[in-house]
Amino acid sequence: MSPLLEFDNVTLRFGGLVAVDRLSFQVAEGEVFAIVGPNGAGKSTAFNLISRFYDPAEGDIRLSGESLLSHPPHDLARSGVARTFQNIELFDQATVLENLLVGRQRFRRSNIVSELLFTPFVRTEERVHRHAVEEVIDFLDLQHYRDKRIAGLPYGVRKVVELGRALATKPKLLLLDEPASGLSVEETRDMAFWIEDIKKQMGITVLMVEHDMHLVSSVSDRVLAMADGHMLALGTPDEVQNHPKVLEAYLGVDDDGAEDAA
Ligand code: ADP
Ligand code: MG
Repeated sequence: MSPLLEFDNVTLRFGGLVAVDRLSFQVAEGEVFAIVGPNGAGKSTAFNLISRFYDPAEGDIRLSGESLLSHPPHDLARSGVARTFQNIELFDQATVLENLLVGRQRFRRSNIVSELLFTPFVRTEERVHRHAVEEVIDFLDLQHYRDKRIAGLPYGVRKVVELGRALATKPKLLLLDEPASGLSVEETRDMAFWIEDIKKQMGITVLMVEHDMHLVSSVSDRVLAMADGHMLALGTPDEVQNHPKVLEAYLGVDDDGAEDAA
């Protein structure tokens, strides 16, 4: 069986800088897979290559055996990939429910004319969307915030809503960009529970970039440690944390969790 996601000798340069250097790894279906490494290691860039912000200079990225590069970037959701952003991206003036419905847009098949006429087909579709979104609201315990505007919500809740918007698309692969950044200890623990439930109950494969090693080791099946664009180590959280190359790369590194934007 082909892996769900495959990096095959991927290189990306920014001018003279090699941000991702002949990187190869595979993410199996059903895994929680984390990418860690010091600032500037190339984690966000690897992530942005999957979400098609950049095209690699060399190599290929495959999803279920098919090259992502053969599709235009805006088709990403259609191929079953959803993501959250390090700096939450939601419609501030819309409600939680409305933001989650936006996540369902890719499933809309009815055209504008039938929407205007509001045919039975559209009504059925609307119900299906509502149902999918209500499921996510229940799953993430967001009932209390359902009709509240994003602008007035605490940061930690907005982070969960963003997760919900990605889940509402029913992705095969969920990309989480620093899911714990800015969260309190309790909120981080809750996030760990959500990630485990997403894997176990929804069967969604999760790929995350994360600084919080406690979260990484509590939820990840495998971890890829990077430095200077290439792989340092790949294995279980324990194997990677104790790998000599990883220990060396972290020595003297000021790991204050400060991070650049995606
Ligand atoms: P990480 O997420 O691991 O901290 P990044 O992937 O953001 O690292 O960056 C890897 C390297 O590529 C860094 O040296 C960074 O400065 C550089 N880089 C990232 N994005 C750009 C860009 N858009 N233009 C130029 N250099 C970039
Ligand atoms: Mg980064």
